[in-house]
Parts: sequence; structure tokens; C-alpha cells
Amino acid sequence: MQVDVVLGLQWGDEGKGKVVDVLAGAYPVVARFQGGPNAGHTLYYQGQKVVLHQVPSGIFHEGVYCLIGDGVVLDPEVLWREVEGLRALGIQAEERLVVSQRAHLILPVHRWLEEVSAEGEKIGTTRRGIGPAYADRYARRGIPVAWIDRPDFVQQVEALTRYHAARFGAEPPPFSQAFWAGIDLLRRLLRVEVFAWLSQFEVVLAEGSQGTMLDVFAGTYPYVTSSHTTVAGVLAGLAVPPQVIRQVYGVTKAYATRVGEGPFPTEIHGQLAQWLQERGGERGSTTGRLRRCGWLDLVALRYAVRLNGVTHLALTKADVLCGLPEVRVRVGGPDDNPTYAHLKGWTSLQDPAFEAFLAFLEAELGVPVWGLSTGPGREEWLLRSALRA
Ligand code: GDP
Repeated sequence: MQVDVVLGLQWGDEGKGKVVDVLAGAYPVVARFQGGPNAGHTLYYQGQKVVLHQVPSGIFHEGVYCLIGDGVVLDPEVLWREVEGLRALGIQAEERLVVSQRAHLILPVHRWLEEVSAEGEKIGTTRRGIGPAYADRYARRGIPVAWIDRPDFVQQVEALTRYHAARFGAEPPPFSQAFWAGIDLLRRLLRVEVFAWLSQFEVVLAEGSQGTMLDVFAGTYPYVTSSHTTVAGVLAGLAVPPQVIRQVYGVTKAYATRVGEGPFPTEIHGQLAQWLQERGGERGSTTGRLRRCGWLDLVALRYAVRLNGVTHLALTKADVLCGLPEVRVRVGGPDDNPTYAHLKGWTSLQDPAFEAFLAFLEAELGVPVWGLSTGPGREEWLLRSALRA
């Protein structure tokens, strides 16, 4: 069995969902290895905008299994709503969704904790209960998916809820009907031991959420997410050995964005930032928050490429920069005084100035640009070889 990986090289929102969607048809399985419903992959299906938080992006491909892996935290309520939403689009997700017995549940109390504690505010969490669910997992209080079969499952869920409520001296939040509908859904889905289940396939596509610079170890701590967004997360999150990793598709925008606080050396302020936010639709698909915008940071990108062993670069959103007379790229300098290369802007992706930009990236990063997203739509995609021809 071999694993190809799609992951973000920046601070998330690079357009990974689109790249997975482009690739997914060639794989029997698309697997999420980390994160929870804080991911917000935006896809266009039959002209309709669909945002997936919990279901892997491969669901739009007939016959592709979508696995929620060991490393994921799963909100049953969100899963249930997404499956129902997909049904309305004519997609029977239940037939192809597979869930790891070792993934952990996000309970209503986890979401509530982010509201009452306000801990997440500065870090810029999405308030989906992901941080508290991971915290419980590592504190060995969490609830793995497998436990929904236990006779005392309900008592365990209630006990964990009471435990947290007691810390804040407040009433535990009620369990919604949707939560129990989600648990029922989980009981109907194929639930597996990932290590054994995956071994029947020749090749698997692993789908990352968030980005390398938000990895809990490798990112800009404490302004990070709660999981391993890097290739290391694939090994633990899908229970596979390192030798099986084959292609690593690193996704980056032609510029940079970041949601929430934390260092962002190439940040742009003022009119140009607003222009980018508007042109690039830089608003979070999960939270609706405006994203901070900046120039492409090759110092961060070089780090992400090396850390993940990236073999293929996928560049997105270069179309957003069309029309700028000059495009900057950070090439060095300390974070508080970055130095930039000033490159000629492009008017279209056929412009020789864009080819020069791509050649510059490849020379600086030592990895080929393999694919280019040319717009938000599913068909707006080019292989670099096609652009050269
Ligand atoms: P993900 O979480 O990495 O999949 O990224 P998001 O879905 O949060 O954000 C990417 C956004 O950019 C989505 O709204 C996409 O439809 C859009 N997008 C992806 N690629 C391109 C592109 O090449 N050009 C433009 N203009 N938009 C794109």
C-alpha cells in the first residue's frame, strides 16, 4: 500500500480541498488524518458551493471511500448535518463514509468550553470544540468512536460533561437531538481499525487540514491548531509506516493569508490588503472571519517544503494577483525585517511574467510546480506542463 498526501504549506486555506478534488478520482480511498470540523474545504459541485467540515473532500467522486482517520476529532452532530446536506444534493455519503474506531468524539460540552473559557479567543480558534476534544484525548479522558458500542456509553458522555461543567460551576449544556442522530449515524457507518482496513488498498490519498505553520509542534506556537498538520501527522493519523509515503503534494497560494493572531512577517496592511481580501474572497469558510493577507513568504515555504518532504507543488490563487504591477516575495531576512524580491506582475496566467514567477519559485524551493489552480471552479485547473506547451 502507498500513500500520497495533500497538505497545506502555509496557515491553512490554501485551497487543499480543490487539489484533493482534482486528484481524488484516481484513488479508491481519500482519508482525513487530523483535525476536526475546523477545516472548511470549499468546493463547487454542479455549480453549487458546498463547504465540507468533517467529511473528506473525496465524497464528490463516485466509488471513492472517504475515511475519517485515527487522528481526527469528530463532531457527530456536524457529521450528521453534512451527510443530510449531501443527501439533498443526491450524494449517498453513508455508503462510502468509513470512520476509525480510534477517532475521538467532540461532545457539545467541548464546544461549550470554548465559549465559557474564552481561552480560544487570542489563539483564534474556530470554536468548534476541537481544542478541548484534543485536550481530553491527551489527558486520557476522551471518548473514542469505538466506545459508542459500550453499554455505559451514555453514562460516560454524561460524566465527561459533568466533569467540565463542574469546573465552571455551570449547568451542563443539553444534548441536542442532532447529537444523538449523529451517534445513530455513526452506528450505521462502517467503523474500522484503520491499520487493517487500509492495507487492502494499493494506494490512498491523505487529505490534510489547516496548514504546516499551524502544526502543534512545527508551527508558530501557541498560535497553532491542536493536531499535526504535517506529513508526520499522516503516519500517526492513518496508522501507516513512513516507507509507504509516495507523493507529497504541497499546496500554497501565490500570496499568504492567516486567520487569527500570531506572527505574520509578510503581512500587508491598508488598501492593498483590502483589495486582496475582496478579490481573493479571503473570509474563513468556517468562521466567516476576514483573513489577514500578505506576500508569499519563501522562508516559511522553504521550511514547510523540507519538513514535509514535498515532491510536488500545487499553486493556487495566482489569478487573484492578476493586474498588480509588481508582486513581492519574501526571500530572507529576520521575521521583523524581511527582505523581498520584487517581481514583475502578470496580467494573465499566460503572461511570460507569470512563467518567470513560477521559475523563480522552483529555483528558490527546489521543487517543481506541478499543478496550478486558475480559479475557484472544479475545472479551473492546469498542469504546469500544459502551461509550458
Ligand atoms: P482549504 O481549506 O485549503 O481547502 O481552503 P478553503 O476552501 O478554505 O479556501 C480556498 C478558497 O479559495 C475557496 O473558496 C476556493 O474556492 C478558492 N480557490 C481555490 N483555488 C482557487 C484559485 O486558484 N483561484 C481563486 N480565485 N480561488 C480559488
